Amino acid sequence: MELLYKSTRGGESQVTASRAILQGLAGDGGLFVPERIPKLTAGFRELSGMSYQETAYEVMKLFLTDFTEEELKHCIRSAYDEKFDTEVIAPLAKVGGAYYLELFHGATIAFKDMALSILPYLMTTAAKKNQISNEIVILTATSGDTGKAALAGFADVPSTRIIVFYPKDGVSPVQEKQMVTQKGDNTLVVGIRGNFDDAQSGVKKLFGDQELAEELSRAGFQFSSANSINIGRLVPQIVYYVHAYARLLENGELKEGEKMNVVVPTGNFGNILAAYYAKQMGLPVGKLICASNDNKVLYDFFRTGTYDRNRPFILTASPSMDILISSNLERLLYRIAGEDAGKTAELMGLLGTEGVYEITGDMRDRLADFCGYYATEKETEEVIGRIYEDSGYVMDTHTAVAACAFEKYRADTADDTRTVIASTASPYKFTRSVMEVIDGEACGGMSDFELIDELSRISGTKIPNAIEEIRTAPVRHKTVCETHEMKQVVRTFLGVE
Ligand SMILES: *Cc1c(COP(=O)(O)O)cnc(C)c1O
Repeated sequence: MELLYKSTRGGESQVTASRAILQGLAGDGGLFVPERIPKLTAGFRELSGMSYQETAYEVMKLFLTDFTEEELKHCIRSAYDEKFDTEVIAPLAKVGGAYYLELFHGATIAFKDMALSILPYLMTTAAKKNQISNEIVILTATSGDTGKAALAGFADVPSTRIIVFYPKDGVSPVQEKQMVTQKGDNTLVVGIRGNFDDAQSGVKKLFGDQELAEELSRAGFQFSSANSINIGRLVPQIVYYVHAYARLLENGELKEGEKMNVVVPTGNFGNILAAYYAKQMGLPVGKLICASNDNKVLYDFFRTGTYDRNRPFILTASPSMDILISSNLERLLYRIAGEDAGKTAELMGLLGTEGVYEITGDMRDRLADFCGYYATEKETEEVIGRIYEDSGYVMDTHTAVAACAFEKYRADTADDTRTVIASTASPYKFTRSVMEVIDGEACGGMSDFELIDELSRISGTKIPNAIEEIRTAPVRHKTVCETHEMKQVVRTFLGVE
């Protein structure tokens, strides 16, 4: 049965999955959502015998109904291959009464790889299906992580180009090195003189530039976006929750039908929304525990029903969760409003003008599956240190926020349901923060790479390729520009002058 996508704000007609992927954002400013959440068709016994790739097909075919079996399997095969450093793609580690679902075994050792390794293939397939012969040019502004994951995903994918702008002095040295050493003739990385907001508004301007769009179209190009509100990023994220459940069944950790709780370290609300969709598909998920750092907008929202972004932005050691506007929450609002697009548009309007909105009592009632917890910087450090002491397992700062939320939830509720904690980054990605907790004294004089060696020694884990590579990789991208030069940089790279 065909599944179509509609906007959360109701101002647009329904489109196919491939159209929604190409378009990214709906024309009325809303997000695309499926007209209904499909139910899993494979039984859990069947699923528990499946590889990650097979599970991906079982789940994604239900959402991307205008892709043929061959097309979808090709996308899945191309994405989940040797780019991952383990055949199982998303392993589970049992530590301290929970199961850590390690989503960091891809090309850039963070969970964004789970979706960004397949998005380029979904996009090029979608373009073909819609008779688009232009090359797709992905344009992104990044504060570090997403840019690299998008570069790694799109590098050398035929019929695509990718251009990433980052604030020249606004990312960590390791992040910058990761980006400027990016291989692939279709990639361009540009430092801009300005901060992340300057990069972001520069990119928005390019997207809205009609003259540029026409020039590009004449030369056979069109812009697209890889950001986290694209349905092509959300759907692949449902897969690992289904797969994790099936693994736990297979290993006898769960009985069929028994529930599993999930804890997700949350920023833009994409990862946890995928778990919610998995539950709606019929996966026996109990509680969805949303973990925040000191930027605890979501914690307050789940406790009070009021979303209020009017507060200071706090820089933490879990930077990918330093977010005050969680874009994907709009999809949840739409759902708990009973698919009322008018209500959703009203709340989003208030968020734009006042920075705050309050949901109705009925909407709150439909949030019963969720609960919010948060961890302070001190608590996060404490958890990293203690779990390492107790078990030898080293986790990154984002995962530690979730581990802390899990402990608080258990202490509050005594709910002993089996629990999966989404582990969103390798500790090698945030080595300094992690090593300062574990061995603060030794860290003082050490360089980033010395710390990496030390982490490998004390944890007994192999240094990921993503890190080994950049130690010696040559710098391939040296362009730095002012924000007003961004348009010309794009033209030059695409040869449309
Ligand atoms: C992006 C990211 C998150 C937040 O995920 P959302 O889907 O935006 O909620 C958490 N941890 C890490 C390491 C990330 O890169």
